[in-house]
Amino acid sequence: MERKKIAAANWKMNTTVEEGIALFKDLMALELDARTEVVICPPSTHIYSLSKMPCGKNVFLGAQNMYPKEKGAYTGELSPTMIQSSGATYVIIGHSERREYFNESNVFLAEKLRLALNYGLTPIFCCGEGLDIRTSGNHVAHIITQLKESFDEFSNEDLGKVVIAYEPIWAIGTGETASPQQAQEMHKAIRDYLAQLVGEEIANGIPILYGGSVKPANASEIFGQEDVDGGLVGGASLDARSFSQIINSFSS
Ligand code: PEP
Repeated sequence: MERKKIAAANWKMNTTVEEGIALFKDLMALELDARTEVVICPPSTHIYSLSKMPCGKNVFLGAQNMYPKEKGAYTGELSPTMIQSSGATYVIIGHSERREYFNESNVFLAEKLRLALNYGLTPIFCCGEGLDIRTSGNHVAHIITQLKESFDEFSNEDLGKVVIAYEPIWAIGTGETASPQQAQEMHKAIRDYLAQLVGEEIANGIPILYGGSVKPANASEIFGQEDVDGGLVGGASLDARSFSQIINSFSS
């Protein structure tokens, strides 16, 4: 089955609004493969301005985080409607930095997933293991538990709308990348788990992105793996030329 190919940029807490606009403009001025869905997740302060800028039909905006309430007294948080009305259609949920620094649990992330789906935002749901878990050999079980505890209550139809990002924590921002074989092993295990949960047809349509020091030099080999449908890219997405090369790294 033909799955969407996605290159998603996570700018994290980088760039001023002016710098973000310049980066977006620089990226849009480059040749980008129109078959790749490009998702730019800038700081939320930038989304509205970027949504007014010219871009290709394959370019979308996403938020890096969202609070799982519709509105109310949650100082400093962003609701799904705020995100939507600012011009974003995607939202990253459960990035390892949120899990670690803000203690976001699998159950709390399920609430975020629920609200995102209710409001028609496409969640990029992150999972990943630390180096200790990878070294102990329990990485597959760990990832499946993360997904199980967040996905259990959802209908097949809902889960069919989710994008998953597998991001080994030991490879995020470290320059160390999972080998294409390590990525494929985990992506296949995730897809097999999804097939049990929602059936093969839906599981085969769910994009699973790899994240962790993706660069122009390693993107095509990683994206060439059967169950890898693209990448969630941090550092290399802050350079327009590097990210354009990553966007253009899909073979067909
Ligand atoms: C990320 O934070 O999602 C990420 C993958 O970062 P980097 O590409 O810098 O490792």
